[in-house]
Amino acid sequence: MQLLDGKLVSETLLADIARQVEELRSAGKKAPHLAAILVGTDPASETYVASKVKTCKQIGFQSTEIRLSADTPEEEVLEYIRSFNSNTDIDGILVQLPLPRHIDEQKVIDTIDPKKDVDGFHPVNVGKMVIGQPTFISATPNGIMLMLQHYGIDTAGKHCVVIGRSNIVGTPMSILLSRNTNPGNCTVTLAHSRTQNLKELCLQADIIVAAIGRPAFVTADMVKDGAIVIDVGINRIEDAGRKSGFRLVGDVDFDAISRKASWITPVPGGVGKMTICALMYNTLQACKARQSLTY
Ligand code: NAD
Repeated sequence: MQLLDGKLVSETLLADIARQVEELRSAGKKAPHLAAILVGTDPASETYVASKVKTCKQIGFQSTEIRLSADTPEEEVLEYIRSFNSNTDIDGILVQLPLPRHIDEQKVIDTIDPKKDVDGFHPVNVGKMVIGQPTFISATPNGIMLMLQHYGIDTAGKHCVVIGRSNIVGTPMSILLSRNTNPGNCTVTLAHSRTQNLKELCLQADIIVAAIGRPAFVTADMVKDGAIVIDVGINRIEDAGRKSGFRLVGDVDFDAISRKASWITPVPGGVGKMTICALMYNTLQACKARQSLTY
């Protein structure tokens, strides 16, 4: 088994982004600026936003972080987005999901200017991704594509089973892997909660992408020898031995599956790191496009 090491790959790619930021500065251009909005105090969301802001600092991006209480009215969140849309200094806007129940998530996404939608969730950007036009691609599936590309993994003609059909992970992942690109050119099966013969399908898979949100859902008896296993899941489970009282595990049974897989991502240190990296690439791309540079 070989590790698809998101920590290592993201360090290399973030160094490349930092170098491009330096080039912008040397050319008298402004550095990319990412604005993040966090509504509420969900601990996982707080951690994600904190690490995105920290990464911005590390690679020379400017960042703005807006923290709002969980009972903030929807209109106030939309107003922040509109002000960021018209702020010429801001290149990328992200609103950390999930949002409190009283806020309409789709309305929030629809309000973001597609040219600043660095999460790639706006219908315009999703539509462009589907037909293969250049656009912002949702950070998690794009991060996985960057990782496969980095390791030179040949995906052409392989059967890939994507488990989970969310708009932000499973569905875009299935489309990207099926396109005529490298990586890509897979024959894709998109499995979900109503799939009846999941184990049978997984046993036929050369590549499994698990994005379900259930700890160790994919077990070793579902994986054929030599498969490539990509674990998107980030689940907190109680661990009295840790100071925090929890630890993070993925959607696949890493220990058992790593004895069968040819390549596997760890959790943490796999897809999560690549997601942040892809978000930063999108923000750099937004900044360059706004300054009319080629990219
Ligand atoms: P989601 O809850 O929106 O979707 C889960 C999907 O799993 C659904 O489409 C559902 O059909 C499918 N599913 C549920 N039960 C199933 C079953 N028994 N068999 C087959 N499919 C089943 O989740 P999401 O937003 O796509 O996230 C999935 C996981 O990935 C979560 O753990 C989340 O925390 C994690 N995540 C990680 C990153 C990252 O950067 N690593 C980014 C986004 C999400």
